[in-house]
Amino acid sequence: MLTVGLTGGITVGLTGGIGSGKSTAAELLSELGATVIDADRVGHEVYLPGTKGWDQVVAAFGEGVVGDQGSIDRKQLGAIVFADEGQLAKLNGIVHPLIRDAVRDKVAAAKIARPAVPVVIEAAVLIEAKWYDLVDEVWVVVAEPQTVIERVTASRGLDESAVRARIDAQLSNQERTERADVVIDNNGSLDELRTQVERLSKERLFRVG
Ligand code: ADP
Repeated sequence: MLTVGLTGGITVGLTGGIGSGKSTAAELLSELGATVIDADRVGHEVYLPGTKGWDQVVAAFGEGVVGDQGSIDRKQLGAIVFADEGQLAKLNGIVHPLIRDAVRDKVAAAKIARPAVPVVIEAAVLIEAKWYDLVDEVWVVVAEPQTVIERVTASRGLDESAVRARIDAQLSNQERTERADVVIDNNGSLDELRTQVERLSKERLFRVG
């Protein structure tokens, strides 16, 4: 359901593969006035010490994933789950519902604080986790694998095979675009990305009535 204009701001789910340009697009949308909720950051909060997420992760993966000061050691956990799809599914089964609830609460709080302001949920796993009921529209950022590899190897110090492995482990651009209301093509320059995001913002986020 579209809820724009006087009835309140729209909620958009912004997703895409590793290095597609989600964060860059989210930053632009934030500059344009949207409230951006970063599900990845929320993901770090859901298993902080003292939370039920912490209890569940430690029960599932053992004390070995508990690091300094009792927090979950993301490197340890990553080493377990990225080596084994079954373990990754187990972790996702624990954290995705927790992240979903926390994101839903943050959206609700944003709508109460600033009802007319559009909300953008930046979430790599939006489609995998099927969070469609949290959003009015799904926007997918796509870039060709070779472009992603060039950008991510340059910016994050990962080597080509590591980036390729992550691309292969995720949904393809086609699988994502099949679910998209809007596709943002980020194969071009940053200026081209900005132009698209500004146009979309005008047409779909801040239009009145
Ligand atoms: P994601 O959040 O989807 O993983 P990022 O927004 O972090 O992707 O983009 C990955 C890298 O590519 C970043 O270093 C970013 O600055 C760069 N980048 C994104 N879009 C472009 C573009 N159109 N041209 C050049 N570099 C880009």
